[in-house]
Amino acid sequence: MGRSFFILWFVAILFADPLQAQERSLQPGIDILHYDFSLSLPDTGRTIEGLALITVRRSPPAGNLILDLVGLRVDGVSVNGRPAGFERKTGSLDIPLAQSLSSLPDTLLVSVRYDGEVSDGLIIHADEKGRWYAFGDNWPTRARYWLPTVDQPAEKATVSWNIDAPRGRMVIANGELVGERSIPAKSGSGALNRTLTTWRTSRPIPPYLMVIAVGPLMKYDLGLTAAGLSEFPPGVRQSVYVVPELADYPPGPFRRAGDIVEFFARTVAPFPYEKLAHVQSFTRYGGMENASAIFYSNDLFEHRSSSTGIIAHETAHQWFGDAVTPRSWGHLWLSEGFASYFEQLWVQHSDGDDAFRKGMTELRKEIISSKATYTRPVIDTLQTNLMQLLNTNSYQKGAWTLHMMRSMLGDSLFFAGIRSYYNHHRHGTATSDDLRESFEQVSHRELRWFFDQWLRWPGIPKLTVRWEYDESLHRVIVGILQDSGVPPYRFPLTIGVHTAAGKTQTATVDVPAQESSHIQVPLEIDSNPVSIVLDPGVELLADIRQE
Ligand SMILES: [Zn+2]
Repeated sequence: MGRSFFILWFVAILFADPLQAQERSLQPGIDILHYDFSLSLPDTGRTIEGLALITVRRSPPAGNLILDLVGLRVDGVSVNGRPAGFERKTGSLDIPLAQSLSSLPDTLLVSVRYDGEVSDGLIIHADEKGRWYAFGDNWPTRARYWLPTVDQPAEKATVSWNIDAPRGRMVIANGELVGERSIPAKSGSGALNRTLTTWRTSRPIPPYLMVIAVGPLMKYDLGLTAAGLSEFPPGVRQSVYVVPELADYPPGPFRRAGDIVEFFARTVAPFPYEKLAHVQSFTRYGGMENASAIFYSNDLFEHRSSSTGIIAHETAHQWFGDAVTPRSWGHLWLSEGFASYFEQLWVQHSDGDDAFRKGMTELRKEIISSKATYTRPVIDTLQTNLMQLLNTNSYQKGAWTLHMMRSMLGDSLFFAGIRSYYNHHRHGTATSDDLRESFEQVSHRELRWFFDQWLRWPGIPKLTVRWEYDESLHRVIVGILQDSGVPPYRFPLTIGVHTAAGKTQTATVDVPAQESSHIQVPLEIDSNPVSIVLDPGVELLADIRQE
């Protein structure tokens, strides 16, 4: 998600449903392979009719399939074509699968027919001209308000959409467009006044990224981009969808969308999906990285204030978050920290090192001034209110952790580690330990201490640094006190020494995990220096006071 969520954060917390706090553990023996959703959308109002065909691979001991579903009426369930019993609970639909439960896995087709008024998840909006729009907005656990799913990030599946809507509405969804055809209304004159639009993914995605956008949207084609750099040859077809009033807005900042995808594809791996749509929407977030169909907040378009920053952030999520999904919410930084850092990498690529360092300095300031920094670790498996995970730990501190890994390993090992991690977990899920193992394998270094101190403890180093010049040694000696309220940190620190002759020399020292250290800077300095500058390259996340 885009960082402008901060504006909406408090609103979102007020409306947060207590159900969002529940994260059921994965169901043993249940693997969802595919969802086929057929939805019939109304002319006005919020009542939908749905049919979900769910392909489930079941192995012992699974006797039940528990689907998350809130607030809608279930009209019938069948398993492999036979009517099946089910139990409707407040937030779920329990379906017994007690057919042949042999020791072998078997694949079942579960069908769920449902309808009702949608209260969340699918945001339905009628504008002042009475035009009807609907946008999926599922993060983190709101798919269940309109789609029966195993609504967990680790339960990834392919999805197809068959959307029956009144004629004149554009329907955009994940994956590739399979077809559009005119159909009659179920009860009506037989006139072909509705359109059935079908989209399909061939890569598995988690339910929180399964969306449709429906409304009188206008398409602006950005054409084929990133040629040769997609899992789907010949390249990445990109487009922008806007409301009719903004037909003259695109491409705007989206003229850089091709360069952005190409940069990430060259840095990481080929683009993972069939196409990339950028959609003006009514998401509650600044931007939402739905797989192959990014939804941006309506405000960003209305004020014509979309930026390449948010485009880069949401686009980076297509690799990190979407193709490689955090296995559980506690590892959200693997999504948001990556997107935040890759946004800065795009800045470095397009605007240069100074702009990049300025961006990282800004993120560091936000970390230092955030309460969450000192109260929660980045890997926060105890947080049950998932909205609270949208904090500076998941975003800025996650980004800074990657940045420090890059500074420590150097570009070539860092990006080799990123590629190794991505390729190992592409179209699957990952944890922070998976990332650590990738970096350890490419660097032949033990990195548990690094992950522990930056991701598993709250806080950041709080340093008081003094220096003096030793005439007999011709060396600068720095004294470093750590007072962080947690075990002391271990980190490399670059020090620049300004000499009276107007020269600046720099050296990097290893600061040990001690409350107090005295370190000789390995530079031959002829006379008492004028000043020293700590971390001139903006490579250390610390709150530093120099005395
Ligand atoms: Zn994000």
